[in-house]
Amino acid sequence: MALAEPAALMGVLAHELGHARGRHSTRMAVEGALLGATVAVITGDITSVLASAPVLLATLSFSRSHETEADCFALQTLARAGQSAEPLARLLQTIAGDATSGAASVLSSHPSTPARVQLIRDPAAAKRQCS
Ligand SMILES: [Zn+2]
Repeated sequence: MALAEPAALMGVLAHELGHARGRHSTRMAVEGALLGATVAVITGDITSVLASAPVLLATLSFSRSHETEADCFALQTLARAGQSAEPLARLLQTIAGDATSGAASVLSSHPSTPARVQLIRDPAAAKRQCS
């Protein structure tokens, strides 16, 4: 909050509302359980350690898609309110630290900051990812 200008906080709140509206925490639990069951059926008696790896990777993928959904909701909400999403993009860049790439991005629960900033700043990217 100390880093954010007030206009960026509106974007953060809109993003979080997107998670609530999409029921992402409930969906994560259900999707994780379904994936775990599916992997257990497919793999038979493989150890739970081995079985958990694809579940973890898929869960992280779900998490990244939920973040994109929440960003899309924030973009649409801010636009409807006549507010710019640019302060949110600047805040993301401010707090990003090291950008993830390559193998690290596979293990990330969030899309990369450059991808999120592009979604916010590029209407064509938003149209592609938010429809
Ligand atoms: Zn989020």
